Amino acid sequence: MGRKLVAGNWKMNGTNADLKEIEALGIAWAAPRVDIVICPPATLLSRMAFSLGGQPIRVGGQDCHAKESGAHTGDISAEMLKDAGARYVILGHSERRADHGESDAMVRAKAEAAHKAGLTAIICLGESLAQREAGETLDVVGGQLAASLPDGATAANTVVAYEPIWAIGTGKVPSLEQIAEVHGALRAGLKERFGEDAEGIRLLYGGSVKPDNAAEIFGVENVDGALVGGASLKSTDFSPIISALESSL
Ligand code: PEP
Repeated sequence: MGRKLVAGNWKMNGTNADLKEIEALGIAWAAPRVDIVICPPATLLSRMAFSLGGQPIRVGGQDCHAKESGAHTGDISAEMLKDAGARYVILGHSERRADHGESDAMVRAKAEAAHKAGLTAIICLGESLAQREAGETLDVVGGQLAASLPDGATAANTVVAYEPIWAIGTGKVPSLEQIAEVHGALRAGLKERFGEDAEGIRLLYGGSVKPDNAAEIFGVENVDGALVGGASLKSTDFSPIISALESSL
């Protein structure tokens, strides 16, 4: 197993003025015992990477195109993210699946592009409330796992984030038993496909992770960290989540 990981997803939030949050994180986490990644909007990526300089906090994109370059107005390739200083890229976030009609096949093609560019793909999956209430959660996430991950996925180039759609930005969190059930099923699915190497693929939980619930979530088996939205925007919220993950080691 690699180091545990906390990744922050700033979504469509943040301007130059918010780089101070990153400076504060850089000072607070000069020698973390876990991996820390911030995924800002693309407009801030290179400035953020520059301001972090040689510090251990990494930056990532929030999406990439499956092609290397070409006539795709408004899109950004994995190579461009790498060139801007990214080491990671979030792919298949439920907001992109919903807002941009991204299918599992598209996510898989993007992950292949990310791997080719040398980026670690954080591949998101998760069920809707209707699917959860219909008892379909394990089928849905199992299907997304099988269809969104490319064959070349390894512990070094792939992270999986379980993000129940109904928990994102809502303040609702699944029970610890529900998180354990899904993460256990995802681990088993990874092992079945990738063998023992899958043990090292980090499984993040995402959906309303906050300073006051992070420790209990990090205590759940097969939870190797978190993908954090709203609470990643302020260093005063994000830092206690990082501390909780360090305390779980
Ligand atoms: C997310 O969008 O990836 C997320 C987990 O958001 P939040 O933490 O705000 O629920």
